[in-house]
Amino acid sequence: MTSIKQLFSLQEMDQALDRIQGQTAEVEQQLASHLAVEQLEAALAADAERLQDTQRLQRAQQMEVDTLRERSAQLDQRLYGTDVTNPRELPILQEEAERSRDLLKQQEATLQELAQKVTDIQTRCQTLEKEAADAKSDWQALQTQLGAQLKTLASEREGIVATRSRLASSVTPSELSSYETLRVRKGGKAVARVERGLCQACRMSLPTQHLQRVRSGRQTVFCSSCGRILFLG
Ligand SMILES: [Zn+2]
Repeated sequence: MTSIKQLFSLQEMDQALDRIQGQTAEVEQQLASHLAVEQLEAALAADAERLQDTQRLQRAQQMEVDTLRERSAQLDQRLYGTDVTNPRELPILQEEAERSRDLLKQQEATLQELAQKVTDIQTRCQTLEKEAADAKSDWQALQTQLGAQLKTLASEREGIVATRSRLASSVTPSELSSYETLRVRKGGKAVARVERGLCQACRMSLPTQHLQRVRSGRQTVFCSSCGRILFLG
C-alpha cells in the first residue's frame, strides 16, 4: 500500500512545481512587455516627424520673408530715390511701401515663432533620446537578469520533475490518479496535515475515532469536513 507520507511528499513537489510555473509565467510576462522603451521611442519618432514638418515650414517662411524684404527694399529705394517723376505716383508708392513693411513684419514674427517651435522640439527630442537610451539600458540589464531567473527556474523544475517521477512510480496507479483528481478538485491540496487534532486545510477538529484511524496509518482516511486525505506528519 502507498503510504500517505509518499502522497504528501508528492504534493510538496507538485506545489513547488506550481510555484515555479507561476514564477516562470511572471518572468515571461515581464520579458514580453518593455512598454517604457516602446512608449519613449514612439514619442521620439512622433517628435522627429513634427520637427521635420516644422523645419519645412520654417524654410518656406524664410523664403517668403526674403522675397518680401527684397520687395520692400525695392519700394523704399524707388520712394526715396529719384525715380519718381510723376508727383501723383508718390502717395500710391508710399502706401504700397508701408503695406509691404507691415506684411514683412507679420511674416517675420511668424518666422520667429517657427524658429522657437523648432528649438522647443529639438530640446524635447534631446531629452527623449536620453530617456529612451536610459530606459533601453535598464531594459537590457533587466532582460539579462530575467533570463538568468528563467534558467534557474528551469533547472529547479528539472530536478523536481525527476524526483517526482521516481516517487510517482512508487505509488500505485489508482492511488496516484485519485490523488491527482483530488488535488485538482481541492485547489492544489489533496493531502492535509493533521496537527493537534485539527485538519490543517480546513481547521476542523477530527473525531477521536477518525484520529485513531489516521494514527494507525493502515488506511487512507479522508477529512469528514473538507474531503482531503489526512496525513499525520
Ligand atoms: Zn479538512
